[in-house]
Amino acid sequence: MQYYSTNRKATLANLEKAVVKGLAEDRGLYMPEQIKQLPKEFFDNIQDLSFQELSYKVADAFFGEDVDAESLKGIVYDTLSFDCPVKKVTDNIYSLELFHGPTLAFKDVGARFMARLLQYFIKKEDETKEVNVLVATSGDTGSAVANGFLGVEGIHVYVLYPKGKVSPIQECQFTTLGKNITAIEVDGVFDDCQALVKNAFMDEELNRHMKLTSANSINVARFLPQSFYYFNAYARMKAIGLADNLVMCVPSGNFGNICSALFGRKMGLPVKRFIAANNANDIFYNYLQTGKYEPKASIQTLANAMDVGDPSNFARIYDLHHGDHKAITEYISGATYKDGQIRETMRQCYKETGYILDPHGACGYQALKELLRESEGEVGVFCETAHPAKFKEKVDEILGIDVEIPERLADFMKGTKQSVPLSKDFAEFKNYLMNQ
Ligand SMILES: *Cc1c(COP(=O)(O)O)cnc(C)c1O
Repeated sequence: MQYYSTNRKATLANLEKAVVKGLAEDRGLYMPEQIKQLPKEFFDNIQDLSFQELSYKVADAFFGEDVDAESLKGIVYDTLSFDCPVKKVTDNIYSLELFHGPTLAFKDVGARFMARLLQYFIKKEDETKEVNVLVATSGDTGSAVANGFLGVEGIHVYVLYPKGKVSPIQECQFTTLGKNITAIEVDGVFDDCQALVKNAFMDEELNRHMKLTSANSINVARFLPQSFYYFNAYARMKAIGLADNLVMCVPSGNFGNICSALFGRKMGLPVKRFIAANNANDIFYNYLQTGKYEPKASIQTLANAMDVGDPSNFARIYDLHHGDHKAITEYISGATYKDGQIRETMRQCYKETGYILDPHGACGYQALKELLRESEGEVGVFCETAHPAKFKEKVDEILGIDVEIPERLADFMKGTKQSVPLSKDFAEFKNYLMNQ
C-alpha cells in the first residue's frame, strides 16, 4: 500500500517510510491510497468474533500487503491483550470502555501496535542505528507511548510534556520508567511541545545526527489501529441486538481516534452517524457550524487530554471528504462543553445511573444525551476514553467519592520521577538532542 500526504506535495511513501517518518516532507499527514471494503459476511458474523479476531481482519485490510500474515497477527494479538467492553449506562446510551489497556488509556493500542510494527521493520532491515521516537503529550499519549515502547530494543523514546499541566498520576507513568524512555518537562503548553517535535523533524542537521520518528497520533501506525475499537463496539452491540441505528460519540482532542472511526465507516462499518464531543476547545465544533477552520491557542480544561487548539488530524478528516463541508456535516455533528457543564454531567450521571464518568467521557455522554434522536430508534455508544482513577483528584472532588486506584496504576506511583527540564525554545531542545 502506498501512502500520500494530505498536502499532496510529497512523494508517495510505502508503509515503512510512513511509519518511520511519521510526517511527510511537506508537513502533511500520510493517508493510505486505498481503503479496502470489508465483505458483507464479515459484518454478518462479526458478533461471533473476539476483539483480537475481528481486529486482525481489519488490520489485514490496512497492513496485509506490507506485513506478512503471521507477524501481523502476532502484532495484533500482542497489542490487544485486554478487553474492550460496552457497558449499559441508560436505556439507549452505552459506554465503550477504552481504558483497559496497560496504562488504562485508549492510546495503549496505537502505541503498542506502532512499537511492534517499528520493531518489525527495524529487524527486517537489521539496522544498527538506533531509532528515536519523539512524542508530545498533554497527558495520556506520553504514558501510553512510553509503556508501549518500554524495553523495545533499538528504539529510544523522548516524551515532551507541559510542565505542571498533566495530572500527577499521568506524569509518573512516563517519568518513572527509565530504560529507553526519557521524559522532557517543557516550560510551556501542549502546543509548544507539539511545535518542538514538528520543528525537530524539519531540522536537517538534527536528522543527519540521529534517526527521528514521531509517535504522535499523526503516525499511521498509531491512529489506524484505533479503528479496531469501533468494529468491536459494533460487534458487541450487534450481539445484544442493538446495532441497527448506532450513533458513535467520540470525545476528541487531536481527532485521531474519531478519524480512525471514520476510516472504519469507509471500510463498511455500519454506523449511522458520529458525534465529536469537545471540551471548551471548540475549533471543530465551529468548523461544523461555519465551514471555516480557525485554529486557536488551546484553553486549559478539566478534560486536559482534549486541550488542543489546532487538531492535527483535521487535515485527514478534511482530505477523506475532499474538503466537502456538506459531506462531513451529513453524518458528523459536534458538541462543546465548558468545565461547569462537565462537572454537572458527571454529577448527574453518577446520581442517576451510578456510572462514574471521567471528565473526557463526560463530554461524550452529555453529547449523546442531548443529540440522540430517540424517535428514530437511535442507540448511542460513547467512548469512555480514560479510567476515572487517572483523574482521581478531579473526579473525587466533583463527585464527593473516593475512586479506587487500580493496582496497575498504583505501581507506577511507587517509582521515582526523573525528567529533563527545558524551555519551549527550539534551539535549546535541538542542542539537547545533538548532544545525545
Ligand atoms: C487522547 C485523549 C482524547 C482525545 O483523543 P484524540 O484522538 O486526540 O481526539 C480523549 N480523551 C482522553 C482521555 C485522551 O487521552
